[in-house]
Amino acid sequence: MLLLLFVIMGAVVGSFIHAFVSRRLMKQSIVHGRSICFHCKKQLCWYENIPIVSFLFQLGRCRNCQTTIPSHYVFVELVGALFGGFIAVGYSLQLLPDVRLVVTILAALVLLGVFAYDIIAMQIPDEFSLWPAVVFFVIGFLTHNTIVGMLLGVILISGFFFFQFVISRGRWIGGGDVRLGVLMGVLLGWKLGLVALFLAYTVGAIISIGFVIAKKKKLASEVPFGTYLSVATVASMIFGDWLMEWYVGLVVL
Ligand SMILES: [Zn+2]
Repeated sequence: MLLLLFVIMGAVVGSFIHAFVSRRLMKQSIVHGRSICFHCKKQLCWYENIPIVSFLFQLGRCRNCQTTIPSHYVFVELVGALFGGFIAVGYSLQLLPDVRLVVTILAALVLLGVFAYDIIAMQIPDEFSLWPAVVFFVIGFLTHNTIVGMLLGVILISGFFFFQFVISRGRWIGGGDVRLGVLMGVLLGWKLGLVALFLAYTVGAIISIGFVIAKKKKLASEVPFGTYLSVATVASMIFGDWLMEWYVGLVVL
């Protein structure tokens, strides 16, 4: 029950964050206005506005003008549902004691914003990377993290991205990822940071190979890396310790 509730809540939050981010990108007012079709501007009624479900039932098209709805709508909602599911499972398995639960939920909201920005516009603004990093640094210091642990995380992840950014002159990795690396380092520290990098590169590789096999090679190069990073960060915040134990057990035995 809890899982289902969190998955649905996650999808709804994802839908809101998608609307928030796309309106900010188009410089529209956030408070004003109901959801409209981006193409024919027809206002959507309630049953055209249900996260994931509407998209599937309408086969990804506007009911009025038949324009294909960009798939990033449904991806942000799906990842919201995924984050909700992660949090529910982590909570049931008692992987998120006391303040960690609150920090993880806040971080998941910010990282869903990162996901939305990166998949819609291939950019990650400071408001969703550096600023939250400062806030989470203070929260982490006051609650469950050490300054050294967080700084090592920042140096490891952001430094690793910066190194790639410099030697590839921004072709392999964007400046937004370097700044996202700062946030990841603060949230994860160096150990879980390594888990997140491992997850992001593995999942990224698997999905890219999937695209190549499905002969959609163009898509593989179009999925921005920050989307994988944000999902890997939330997963590692919740399951990182557990994944590490499992992996070490696998190697040692
Ligand atoms: Zn339309």
